[in-house]
Amino acid sequence: MLKYLLASLLLCLTLFQSNQLMASNINIDGNFNHKKHINFLFKKSTLPSKSVIKSNHLEWQKSQSDILNLGLQSTPVWIKFKLTNSTNEAKKLFIVLSNPLIDELSLYQLNANEIIKQQTIGDTQPLSARAIKDESLLFSISLKANSQNTILLKAKSEGVLKLPVSIWTPERYVQFKSKFNLLTGILLGFLLALILSNLLIFLLTRHGLFIMSSLYISCLWAVLTGLFGLSYRYFHLDTFWLQQINISTLLLTAIALLNPITERLLELSKNNKKQLKMIRITFCFTLIMILINPWLSYSDSLLMSFSAGLANLIICLCISAYQIIKKTKHAKTVFLYQASITLALIYSILLFNGLVLSAVTMHAVLVACFFISSIVLSYLLIWHFITQRDEKTQLQHQQLAQVRAKDTLLEETIKIQDKSQEELESKIQERTFELEITLRKLEEKNRELEEKNTHDALTGIRNRHYFDKKLSMEFRRSRREQTALAILMLDIDHFKIINDTLGHLAGDEAIKFVANTIKDSLQRPSDEACRYGGEEFAVILPNPPEEGAIAVAETIRTAIESAKIHTSAGIIEMTISAGVHSSVAELNNDPNQHTAQADKALYQAKEAGRNQVSSLANSSLITDNPQ
Ligand code: GH3
Ligand code: MG
Ligand code: MG
Repeated sequence: MLKYLLASLLLCLTLFQSNQLMASNINIDGNFNHKKHINFLFKKSTLPSKSVIKSNHLEWQKSQSDILNLGLQSTPVWIKFKLTNSTNEAKKLFIVLSNPLIDELSLYQLNANEIIKQQTIGDTQPLSARAIKDESLLFSISLKANSQNTILLKAKSEGVLKLPVSIWTPERYVQFKSKFNLLTGILLGFLLALILSNLLIFLLTRHGLFIMSSLYISCLWAVLTGLFGLSYRYFHLDTFWLQQINISTLLLTAIALLNPITERLLELSKNNKKQLKMIRITFCFTLIMILINPWLSYSDSLLMSFSAGLANLIICLCISAYQIIKKTKHAKTVFLYQASITLALIYSILLFNGLVLSAVTMHAVLVACFFISSIVLSYLLIWHFITQRDEKTQLQHQQLAQVRAKDTLLEETIKIQDKSQEELESKIQERTFELEITLRKLEEKNRELEEKNTHDALTGIRNRHYFDKKLSMEFRRSRREQTALAILMLDIDHFKIINDTLGHLAGDEAIKFVANTIKDSLQRPSDEACRYGGEEFAVILPNPPEEGAIAVAETIRTAIESAKIHTSAGIIEMTISAGVHSSVAELNNDPNQHTAQADKALYQAKEAGRNQVSSLANSSLITDNPQ
């Protein structure tokens, strides 16, 4: 009894399951144009195709969601569904798998367990293997009128096995694809414009951040073209290994580029040396990972890229979060573009682990995150550049103002210096002028003093001091020019008596009279009369004619002899005696010898009875005493 019960329960379950499995049948009627997210049966199997095709329904599972995402999966996965053409005409259909990253996708079209079409495409297969050159994995099949075919798809990939299968009529697919391509073109074109504008700004400004930003957006752009299958279709063509590494390497490169960008924008070299060191070490680590990447298997490279990238981004986020707290300039915006790329990475990790299934969010999140990150970064760089330039200009203005102020100060100082120098110069001039006047006065005084020093106070003629100087001068000239030099020595006769009888005052007046008479008797300007002492006089006659000197003495003697001298004590008459000596000065001689000779002659005149002229050289010319 129990055996029957269990057998009937098993039968019911089998029937129920087979009913469910039978539901993966798509009816193609006259109104059919497309069907997205179809239900199908699937199974993982490494068995050969023939045994899978013939396998029992019970071995298959029904897909639970509209998209099958098995995450990283290296075992081939089979998909099975039925297509029933209920129309009276043959139908051409496109079976599309909108995941261009599947390595290998094979289609088996069965009609009553007989393979009527078999085709293999995928991103490890050449583009030429595809009947229709499309970035999605697309098979074109035809269904005969009123027929039912079983479609088997075998998907194999080292990456994520995400299998969104859809069925289209060719017309509807072309319609959908043109809209999709337009949207993709706009999105990628916009990113391309950002890349080029950053590049252009770099060329104009030579600011390193712009080239880094351009590279960063280029990597994101390349990741998107890879995800959309465009890079496979247009760039790599048959270079399969490049196709295998590109997405993970490019994403990791983009993340690595954020380190130097963040370092500069947050000015970590000034703000925080520890964080600078940390961000640089992280950068080097990520760089090593990028270099290792090509040598790893596809799934390993994905895992490694995601972990290294996430670690890098977490460190960057922590640094920018810390800088936000410290209120560093640009820190919030830096955090924003880092956060958006982190979100994209987290989403990718979930996707690659089979945790994200929704078809709508499939690429939208990545595109949105990439867009936000690129736009925010580009905006921030331009803003940063403008503020930096403004700061520089402001600094230059300040420096210019400082220089101008310094110049003005310098000019004023120079003016003050010039003014004080002018004042000093004018003062010096004044003082010099005053000094010159004083010197002139002093000279005049000196001259006066000199005059006084060489003149006799009583008579006003030259004194003995002057006579000595003049004598030695004329003596040298006589010796030089070999001309005669004559000296007359004159003495008032019996003067003592005048003094004694008429008094000293009358004596003084008599002396003055004699001095004036001698002076008036001299004809040539070079002749000089001097008071030699007391009532004695000396006359210097340079270069006189032979008898000239005696004649001069005689003239003087005669003038005094004949004169009546009016004094305060009455009229006086008196005589003088004169001694004359005239000769050319000799080398060994002394000027005083001339004077001594004249004095000797005077003594001779006195001896001879006074009132006469005597000469030692020429006694014949001696004037006789009239007494
Ligand atoms: P002799 O004919 O021999 O020259 O006789 P003497 O009287 O002139 O003799 P001596 O030459 O010895 O006398 C000079 C006198 O002249 C002596 C002095 O009192 C006087 N004597 C000298 N200097 C001055 C002077 O400046 N003024 C006056 N009044 N007398 C003077
Ligand atoms: Mg005398
Ligand atoms: Mg005398």
